[in-house]
Amino acid sequence: MAQVPIAAGLFTIAPGAPQLVGSRCTDCGEVTFPVQQGCPSCTGSATEEIPLARRGRLWTYTIQRFPPPVPPFKGDPESFTPFGVGYVELDQGLRVEARLTESDPEQLAIGMDMELVLEKFLDAENGDEVVTFAFRPVA
Ligand SMILES: [Zn+2]
Repeated sequence: MAQVPIAAGLFTIAPGAPQLVGSRCTDCGEVTFPVQQGCPSCTGSATEEIPLARRGRLWTYTIQRFPPPVPPFKGDPESFTPFGVGYVELDQGLRVEARLTESDPEQLAIGMDMELVLEKFLDAENGDEVVTFAFRPVA
């Protein structure tokens, strides 16, 4: 069984140390996620891919309590369980929208330290495990 990312180019899956892949404008230094070919800040077209920080702080969050519409949601609505979703502010200055491993609002607080992990999203028909990224509170 292999782990495969839910989409190409979003993140790397090194064991224990996954990283999101972003882009940095070589003209003004603006960092974006996901990778963009053009800079949203200065409209320059010179960007380079960079690994993003694995840690950040929870900027805001909510709890998704019902299945999103299908499509675009690819999961099984029958087996849906609530999950947290939020924005995590990375040291590089950008905010990344992501699933959270924690779905109990009592365990979440704005400003808390978070780190990037991989989560199983679903089993592919060929037996591979499709993974997506999420942030979890740093113990
Ligand atoms: Zn720029």
